[in-house]
Amino acid sequence: VEVNITPILDVYQNVIAAVVVLHDVSEWRRMERMRSEFVANVSHELRTPVTAVKGFAETLLDGALNDPETAKAFITIINDESERMTRLIADLLDLSRIESKQTILDKVTINLEQLIEDTVYKLEHHAQRAGIALAYRGVLGRASSDTSLESDVCVHVDPDRISQVLINLISNAIAYTGEGGSIEVWIEEQPDTYTVHVKDTGIGIPESDIPRLFERFYRVDKTRSRKSGGTGLGLAIVKHIVEAHKGKVHVYSVYGKGSDFSFTLPRV
Ligand code: ADP
Repeated sequence: VEVNITPILDVYQNVIAAVVVLHDVSEWRRMERMRSEFVANVSHELRTPVTAVKGFAETLLDGALNDPETAKAFITIINDESERMTRLIADLLDLSRIESKQTILDKVTINLEQLIEDTVYKLEHHAQRAGIALAYRGVLGRASSDTSLESDVCVHVDPDRISQVLINLISNAIAYTGEGGSIEVWIEEQPDTYTVHVKDTGIGIPESDIPRLFERFYRVDKTRSRKSGGTGLGLAIVKHIVEAHKGKVHVYSVYGKGSDFSFTLPRV
């Protein structure tokens, strides 16, 4: 609390009263701390790939260039690290646009099943390469319609943004599930909402990490996230997009068994 005291004097300059103003600055302090933590995080996240790029470029210049095999390996690392930086910058820009509400959602009424099927189709190849079975299972409790065109599961959303939510959740499920695992996507219907689930049979998340999972740059296992090329921003973006659509995110996970990430969207 910040305290401001102004004395009130009488004609003889005696203090006869005082005006005390108390300012609750805890929220402001919290914001300031979050901002400086964020800047520190971004700097750290960028410094790591830049250091790698510089290190390998220097080694190449110092002679490694003469050995074609070593050179190729180093250039591959430089390329991967540059891609990571590009992704990080793109994610940061995305997040800051959504947070500052600069992004106007381009909402249309669409068939949610169609959107999920299209997104799953796009990621199928990626899952296959990782040796993981990825499938869309339809609406829970309903016999699956032969074609999603018959489906009445409609939502009023920005399709690109909701597709991005699905891409982030499914890509995570792929990254944190080993070969031979599986990922299932399905919809659950409630009176006012649809809930989309992305469930994997992967490594799972310890219970103590779950409350902080959707924070920017929060990772359960830094090494693993780095190896999978993660930026630590995927879930923060998911949360912002879902909340901008008046939905909520949930996660249920059993460490060592798998995770079930879900989000709700209002029904049309
Ligand atoms: P990252 O780029 O590191 O994947 P995210 O914000 O997408 O960042 O996820 C934050 C962290 O949550 C990850 O680093 C990982 O530890 C954990 N996580 C996310 N999805 C899963 C999942 N399906 N299974 C296990 N852990 C996950």
